Amino acid sequence: MSVKKPSHEEEEFFAQVEEEKIKEQGDHAALRQAAQQAEQLRLAHWMHCPKCGNELTETRFRGMRIDQCGWCGGVYLDRAEFTKLAGHGEGVLHAVLGELLTPKG
Ligand SMILES: [Zn+2]
Repeated sequence: MSVKKPSHEEEEFFAQVEEEKIKEQGDHAALRQAAQQAEQLRLAHWMHCPKCGNELTETRFRGMRIDQCGWCGGVYLDRAEFTKLAGHGEGVLHAVLGELLTPKG
């Protein structure tokens, strides 16, 4: 029984298929690594003050839960919270900000 030697075209075809497979695996590995790094960053920064890096704690304010830094006093609102506060007519946002910036005794 003889084994037929692959033609040059067949060798090129299989080499190309193998090369594409390796590239695809590389792309998937790079995407997986990027996703892992993004998740690590998210976990490292979650509920930490972007200004000083200390922990944020949830505080109730006007029926909402907002995030406040216990160290520098920074207050952080997500988009929904900000929209809710700012959307109550002219002058309300100013009053809210003034209230937030007043030191609590
Ligand atoms: Zn802070």
